[in-house]
Amino acid sequence: MKEFDVLIIGGGPSGAMTGIELQKHGFNTCIIDKASFPREKLCGGGLTLKTIELLDTYCPELDKSAFILGQSDNVDFYYKTDQITHTKINTPYFFTDRKLLDTSLIELYKEKGGTLLENTRINAKDINFTENVILLGNDSLRYKYLIGACGCSSLLTKPFGISRNDYFCVEARVAKETTEEQPFRIYLGPVQNGYGWYFPKNDHDVIGVGGKNTNKTLPKQAELFFQEVTKTTGLPSKGAFIPSGKKINALSVMDNTILVGDAAGFIDPITGEGLYYALLSGIFASESVLEASGNPKRSLQKIYTCKCSKIKKNMKWGYLYHKFLHADTVTPYFIKALQDHPHFVKYYLEDVISTYRFNYKNFIWKYFIKIRKSLHAQ
Ligand SMILES: Cc1cc2nc3c(=O)[nH]c(=O)nc-3n(C[C@H](O)[C@H](O)[C@H](O)COP(=O)(O)OP(=O)(O)OC[C@H]3O[C@@H](n4cnc5c(N)ncnc54)[C@H](O)[C@@H]3O)c2cc1C
Repeated sequence: MKEFDVLIIGGGPSGAMTGIELQKHGFNTCIIDKASFPREKLCGGGLTLKTIELLDTYCPELDKSAFILGQSDNVDFYYKTDQITHTKINTPYFFTDRKLLDTSLIELYKEKGGTLLENTRINAKDINFTENVILLGNDSLRYKYLIGACGCSSLLTKPFGISRNDYFCVEARVAKETTEEQPFRIYLGPVQNGYGWYFPKNDHDVIGVGGKNTNKTLPKQAELFFQEVTKTTGLPSKGAFIPSGKKINALSVMDNTILVGDAAGFIDPITGEGLYYALLSGIFASESVLEASGNPKRSLQKIYTCKCSKIKKNMKWGYLYHKFLHADTVTPYFIKALQDHPHFVKYYLEDVISTYRFNYKNFIWKYFIKIRKSLHAQ
């Protein structure tokens, strides 16, 4: 039997970040992943400035040129296929390929001395939560703390009646439309409760759509949307689940077992951005393990839940706005508001999405304060 302080199931960004931070503090950790790295992962690969800043702060050794495949400070919003706005922003958006980003993170984890078990799929029946042991064929791994970083897979959450597979995304890789720098595009309206995106990268572009998969019609809607935008039929596409952001109360399944990233349901409910929260929750998880191990009377579950309360609050408000904006009676006014208030679009992209300088609870009134101040200044 091998013994580890912390076992992490899943080597995506949330698991790798948890492992990197724990290794820095001298813990003996092991990441187990069903895949082997480098591995493909379906994702738009959009990285906001706050995500880049988080990587700069916690992983300054990372060579960003190894995984950043483009950036853009121009954003076009469309309603269906009609362009409704063009916005130049001061906080560029970056684009990556997950194969490259995830490999960079996992390599850094290994450099910090972490153990990586690849090609090893864990099944729920292999985990003995009371003995703190995971069975691997004839071998077994004992842990003090277990981190669920296995994405939307229901491995750790299903036995406890939690599912993260709320929304579905479909994405396709397309040939570059132009070699000139171009805006990235957001398409409102192609699917129920979701949106479409077109992200330019250095040697290819990606088009995708995500939202509610009512009656499993989303793949068909995606196909029609891809056809309308790219004027190409039969683009090879793939689909994957993301959480919707609504069930965020279960951040742990046992006192020594906590969930990070998609497994915890962490996502921006409006944009579907998951990478920022995946990394941030990994940092919080490692800090929580550090605090709990230093004081056995303190509960890991409670420390972690407390650290994540800001994420949960922002998601709660984001989810309310998401529901409101997607109500049939509201959407047309929302589209009109985007067209009529370019300053608001810029503010929303820079001060909310890019940076979370203002959160979903207070961004509307902060906007009015900002406008009033600028009118006074004139
Ligand atoms: C189409 C699409 C587009 C997206 N676009 C964006 C975007 O542009 N920007 C953004 O910020 N977010 C985006 N997201 C969301 C983002 O991909 C996720 O939030 C992010 O991957 C979460 O990271 P994670 O580490 O929690 O999980 P994952 O990245 O899913 O990693 C989970 C890991 O666990 C492993 N695993 C799973 N089950 C097991 C098992 N049983 N045993 C062992 N290992 C296991 C997997 O192999 C995987 O390596 C997108 C998602 C989709 C589907």
